[in-house]
Amino acid sequence: MDDLTSAFLELIRLTSTDLSPDVEESLILARDQEAAGSAAKSALEAVLQNVALAREQSTPICQDTGTPIFYVQHPQGWSTRKLREQIRSAVAAATSLAYLRPNAVDAISGINSGNNLGDEAFPTIHFEEIEGEELIVDLMLKGGGCENVGAQYSLPDRRLAAGRDMEGVRKVVLDAVYKAQGKGCAPGVLGVAVGGDRGSSYYGSKESLFRKLDEPNPDPDLDAFEERLTEEANRLGIGPMGFGGVTTVLGTKIKGMHRLPASFFVSVSYMCWAHRRRRMVVHGSDIQYP
Ligand code: SF4
Repeated sequence: MDDLTSAFLELIRLTSTDLSPDVEESLILARDQEAAGSAAKSALEAVLQNVALAREQSTPICQDTGTPIFYVQHPQGWSTRKLREQIRSAVAAATSLAYLRPNAVDAISGINSGNNLGDEAFPTIHFEEIEGEELIVDLMLKGGGCENVGAQYSLPDRRLAAGRDMEGVRKVVLDAVYKAQGKGCAPGVLGVAVGGDRGSSYYGSKESLFRKLDEPNPDPDLDAFEERLTEEANRLGIGPMGFGGVTTVLGTKIKGMHRLPASFFVSVSYMCWAHRRRRMVVHGSDIQYP
């Protein structure tokens, strides 16, 4: 197994500084839909200028470079211990090169490690063995502001009159968007998991954020439901940064999971406009960042 530290470093640099085309195109569309001279349009213009500048100068798109979350799919026989070591080395190097802000603070002592290396959950690394010869690594940088407005619901929710069905899911997802009121840097993307336990449900909601904005849900019913939620969230009128307007979310991505008969969790992970995610594919000596 080759040392992939420098390849991981490039993955982090691209994720932090070069916004994915699907997200940028969606922001352009959102800007064009806002009223001329509105605060919403100005906010999106500023965002897009920032995106272009970050790409040009290879600097972070946002000063909060978030929690690095890696999803690693590896062929049989690869050492996850070595992969973890290489990812952690790359994270420390990316921090010293200012692609990442030092974000790992010990919650008990309040001390910042200074290099983004904390306990085994910082950076977060999930491993899964897959068939074939390719190593596939997805990285997401999850900002703190948007993470703070994520929410989990246990249905039924009497306050919202939300039962254990898709109508109940609709009610709680819209409640999460309403409560955020543009905080967490709208417009963003909703990653939703329906089912699971409390832990796996949040995990699933983040996983769903890796699906591209223009990539439909393979389940036609869920796809229509995603469209409906996006439209209804945008009718709330909260708008970019909460300034009012027609774009509160850029899209909704839903994942259905199995659950215990006794539980019905709905987890909403909100991702801000700085939806930084990138993939790296390693096949032999060939390394791509599609
Ligand atoms: S929520 Fe996103 S855009 Fe807002 S400060 Fe955090 S990382 Fe930046």
